[in-house]
Amino acid sequence: MKKDKAEGGRMRAEVNKSFDSSLIPHPSSFVSKKRFGQHFLRDQNIIRKIIDGAGVSKDDIVLEIGPGFGDMTSLLSQKAERVMAVELDRELCSILSEKFSENNVEIINADALKFDIGGLYKRVGRKIKVVANLPYNISTPVLFRLLEGKEYISSMTLMFQKEVADRLVAKPCTKDYGILSVFAQLYTVPSLLFKVSPHAFTPPPKVDSAVVRLEMLAEPSVKTDNEELMLKVVKAAFGQRRKTLLNALSSGLSLLKNDVEAALKRAGIDGSRRGETLTLSEFSTLSNSVASF
Ligand code: SAH
Repeated sequence: MKKDKAEGGRMRAEVNKSFDSSLIPHPSSFVSKKRFGQHFLRDQNIIRKIIDGAGVSKDDIVLEIGPGFGDMTSLLSQKAERVMAVELDRELCSILSEKFSENNVEIINADALKFDIGGLYKRVGRKIKVVANLPYNISTPVLFRLLEGKEYISSMTLMFQKEVADRLVAKPCTKDYGILSVFAQLYTVPSLLFKVSPHAFTPPPKVDSAVVRLEMLAEPSVKTDNEELMLKVVKAAFGQRRKTLLNALSSGLSLLKNDVEAALKRAGIDGSRRGETLTLSEFSTLSNSVASF
């Protein structure tokens, strides 16, 4: 117990050191936890660039996911009206609570995958900006979770591993175009802001990173009769990428080939194409046409 207390004291002392060096000091006694995807962003310039890219201003309520030691949180708290920071690691939460005890930062010890963003929206009464250097091991599920709460969010500026960022902004007929591209581009306008090298983090990840800003759309980018069905069609089309649309859809949606053929024909889409060549609006036309089976 005594030892823990002493260590806690040392941590806090070191965390509170000057914020202005280019590499922010962190407690040497903290062992980063792989299971929480901990790669702390320590380059002050990159932190600034992310916040500038997010366009955070004094009217904004910001949700930060995985604040870590709170380096980005500090700067966010200067720029935003209020910052809610959701962190899963209890050890970090106690450091953070101490560090931000008397300002516009609220530390929430919770799992971002279960966090109720609708509840937060109701409490603050306006749309939320999400800004985060995400834990890469769960970045895609976190993104899907945030998209579920899209009506409560105005924009999301997020650090991903570079290959995920590439998929978010990918266009049809490219190797990166897939389910993630369609989901992201159906509900948001994603733009790749800049790349970040592993050296900006401690410990450095094995991959390059990139920051993407996703601007939420008031309406999905293409209109479709049944959004859920469209997403099923998209999943089926990409489920077996090397198959033709005709084969991928009939096995993925458990439909008769004849029916899929008829639906494709009605939508004016050649069944020998691959799913990765379809635009969002073709997916929408196709799912409207599949709806009759
Ligand atoms: N934003 C910080 C830390 C990034 S590392 C920085 O840039 O320095 C990812 C952070 O997400 C870690 O603090 C990790 O503990 C936290 N984290 C991991 N899984 C999480 C989850 N499910 N919910 C909330 N936070 C999580």
